[in-house]
Amino acid sequence: MLKALELAGFKSFADKTRFDFPDGITVVVGPNGSGKSNIVDAMKWVLGSQSAKSLRGKDMSDVIFKGSQTRGPAGSAEVTIVFDNPDGALPIDAPEVRVTRRAYRSGEGEYLINNQPVRLKDVKNLIRGTGIGIDAYSLIEQGKVDKMLNANAKDRRAIFEEAAGISRFKAKKVEAERR
Ligand code: ATP
Ligand code: MG
Repeated sequence: MLKALELAGFKSFADKTRFDFPDGITVVVGPNGSGKSNIVDAMKWVLGSQSAKSLRGKDMSDVIFKGSQTRGPAGSAEVTIVFDNPDGALPIDAPEVRVTRRAYRSGEGEYLINNQPVRLKDVKNLIRGTGIGIDAYSLIEQGKVDKMLNANAKDRRAIFEEAAGISRFKAKKVEAERR
């Protein structure tokens, strides 16, 4: 379902860079410090990560290209993640779904779904129950397997509910009850 990732001004990717993920398995190889982990950081960031630490930075502005010996810093970072949506697995009526996040040095930022400005909440709602989210099971990092094995019953249940696609409805129920 993941189709592509486009970066511009994000961490070490000063220039606009597009990664395509065709069917099957994609392996990213490169020397130490060449930006492999930055690609994973970009996925987490565009899906709404609010934690600089989980993005391996100190401040949120650390995601913006800070300049190099040959070029100045970027004024903003932009990441777009592109999903294929042929069977409407994502609750949006379009064959392709593009989620974009932008951040400026001023601290301002925005989210877009298919080029329309949205709230972070809308991005979360879009991906909830798909397993794609930052807290879901699609991104398995160091320590995550340990964490799943050692989780208590409640947390482990949450993992299965996300996999079964139930968590989306649970979140909606909680929201409806609050009104
Ligand atoms: P390893 O194989 O060691 O895990 P890697 O390919 O995963 O390496 P990354 O951690 O993705 O490498 O990339 C680290 C590089 O990204 C460092 O050189 C760092 O200076 C650069 N970098 C991180 N943030 C920024 C930024 N805001 N602006 C410019 N470069 C950045
Ligand atoms: Mg790495």
